[in-house]
Amino acid sequence: VSKQNNTDSISQNTTIEVSEKVGIERRVDSVLKLMTLEEKIGQMNQYNGFWDATGPVPKSNEQAALKYEHLKKGLVGSMLNVKGVKQVKALQKIAVEETRLGIPLIFGFDVIHGYKTIGPIPLAESASWDLEAIKKAAQNAAEETAASGINWTFAPMVDISRDARWGRVMEGAGEDSYLGAKIGVARVQGFQGNDLASPKTIAACAKHFAAYGFAEAGRDYNTADIGTSTLYNVVFPPFKAVTDAGVRTFMNAFNLLNDVPATGNEFLQRDVLKKDWGFDGFIVSDWGSIAEMIPHGYAQNIKHAAELAANAGSDMDMESSAYVSELANLVREGKVDEKHIDDAAQRILRVKFELGLFDDPYLYCNEEHEKEVVGKQAFHEDALDIAKKSIVLLKNENNLLPLKKDNQKIALIGALANDKTSPLGSWRIAGEDGTAVSVLEGLQQYKGNTLTYAKGADVVTPDSKITFINELKINETDTSGFSEAIAVAKSSDVVVMVLGEHGYQTGEGRSRTNIDLPGVQQELLEAVYKVNKNIVLVLTNGRPLAITWADENIPAIVEAWQLGVQSGNAIAQVLYGDYNPSGKLPMTFPRSVGQIPIYYNYKNTGRPNGENSDVVFWSHYSDESNKPLYPFGHGLSYTTFAYENLKIKTLSAREIKVSVEVINTGTVKGKEVLQLYIQDTFASVARPVKELKGFRMVELKPNERQTIDFVLTEKELGFYTNKGEFIVEPGAFKVYVGGSSETTLSSEFTLE
Ligand code: BGC
Repeated sequence: VSKQNNTDSISQNTTIEVSEKVGIERRVDSVLKLMTLEEKIGQMNQYNGFWDATGPVPKSNEQAALKYEHLKKGLVGSMLNVKGVKQVKALQKIAVEETRLGIPLIFGFDVIHGYKTIGPIPLAESASWDLEAIKKAAQNAAEETAASGINWTFAPMVDISRDARWGRVMEGAGEDSYLGAKIGVARVQGFQGNDLASPKTIAACAKHFAAYGFAEAGRDYNTADIGTSTLYNVVFPPFKAVTDAGVRTFMNAFNLLNDVPATGNEFLQRDVLKKDWGFDGFIVSDWGSIAEMIPHGYAQNIKHAAELAANAGSDMDMESSAYVSELANLVREGKVDEKHIDDAAQRILRVKFELGLFDDPYLYCNEEHEKEVVGKQAFHEDALDIAKKSIVLLKNENNLLPLKKDNQKIALIGALANDKTSPLGSWRIAGEDGTAVSVLEGLQQYKGNTLTYAKGADVVTPDSKITFINELKINETDTSGFSEAIAVAKSSDVVVMVLGEHGYQTGEGRSRTNIDLPGVQQELLEAVYKVNKNIVLVLTNGRPLAITWADENIPAIVEAWQLGVQSGNAIAQVLYGDYNPSGKLPMTFPRSVGQIPIYYNYKNTGRPNGENSDVVFWSHYSDESNKPLYPFGHGLSYTTFAYENLKIKTLSAREIKVSVEVINTGTVKGKEVLQLYIQDTFASVARPVKELKGFRMVELKPNERQTIDFVLTEKELGFYTNKGEFIVEPGAFKVYVGGSSETTLSSEFTLE
């Protein structure tokens, strides 16, 4: 049994930890000694599920038959996408009972935001800035997943991205590495817990190493071409933080980085991750990414691809079949050192031991337990809690929100208001279509008002094939439902319009060049606005949207993302004020797509930055402002907050205390996410205008005030040089504190 290093929890008895680690290492070595070269390589081979209750499927399929043969010969170390105890058990039985050494399989699955009980998409969860709630969501997902026989999730994705065109921004924590690191660690701790061998925890996987979120032009799988400083200061920190928190596996990436595929990248995998950061878990390739090095123009053929990936430190091959077919010969020919094979097999066996699989390969395989745990009520309650916390109030003029509870005529418009599937997002392999509470169902629970629903327009055409792998067809023409919507709006006091993206418009392979309201929804919004201006726009989407017209015209806007099974309940409680919104944007909303990449922690140019510059050639666009629509960290509440008495105290040469008072100046109780930013005003490499270096959640009653202290240490004050060294430089720093990245409340200090 292994105890993970849990940086934030009370330290464990280290003597026990060390002896357990030594114990595991001995056991790993004793197994390794028994293994043939082929069996070691078998551990490095991962196959997608090809099994149902009757055996391998399809039986006629040659590939499935080959995989089955490999499994029986001990040439498979792991499987992915196998759902449920029955199937896991059947496959595990073959590995344990029919292979020569009986080494158990490790089963991986994309548990991205819930297994069966789907919660908010990770980008939404991140908007809560609530690390405890995020950890709890991961903990629940782990318990539910483990009860289904699975012991490893391909999450968290800790890729930082500044490009809302990229469909996978829904899967990450947004644009900031400080926030991204905190959230990544919370999720790893939630999945893995303190005892990986408990049947309630699973191994986590930090992905995609590295720079996958910097796909050029936001087109998925595209080249990442970024500078050294961005790599060290923006891309690496969340990966480093989860490594320090004990994440057990990593996944590499599809993209090129400096023209070398991440999968064949020795610098990333061996030098940085395994050597510099001391990572002792294993790295799995991304799906088929070893074979993808051939079309990249980096490997000549599959054998060469296997050689490059193994030498670069990719330990497990997901679905390329490159290792199982080529590695043994490559070792015999001296092209891959057997010590690399031993190292990879050791790493994989280590994690299997830590998971308790050698002690009981069926630890996760109890069908009774599965029935009790999967979908249990407590998971739904927690899913509602984090869904509410994920909602961001973007705008609220004339106190249109919260809605009054009685004697109001409310019009509800938009296909997404009556959609029970889109709120589940695109990564919900074990989730079931139609299981989310819709906004319509949520609002129907408030009986004091009259609610009338009109669809207005579909987001996708009725013949769109709505599945994980199909491309959707967006409704660009059908406005036949407009007249009904307009009539309903005309005779109502308030109009709630639920517009945004279909659940399958974000996620893997789902990039967009326009990030506006898809199809005819903008036209619908403007048509309704002509007859009733009292509109509450509820956005449900998986990426920042450029909704500039709406911001200029619509009085109230709520960002509700894709919130999972409890979506409609959470949205209704926020609209009616039963939950006072507290979310803050983890990613900048641009005014138009042409501003992308746009992010709060940019660097100054040598030219003036202000909007009213009298210099002709200042850094700007002639047709759009430099400002975002909504900045990183933005989010309103039904109350208001003020900040006073910002004070700075030097505690020691490298320790600065910042304190500030927060006051609830409104009329209701509310939560504020207080944010602290710094600027290193002059350094040996130019530093961003602002960098988040602390945040704290405070809940205050009206008129209540609280003093909050932050301590900045070397960790917060330093940065990485272009040689990858972490340094702290003396000189002047600015500090900003407030409720968003645009806060102007500031002070200064100097490091000697
Ligand atoms: C994705 C990974 C995912 C894997 C397995 C790939 O296409 O990029 O994030 O974990 O598939 O489903």
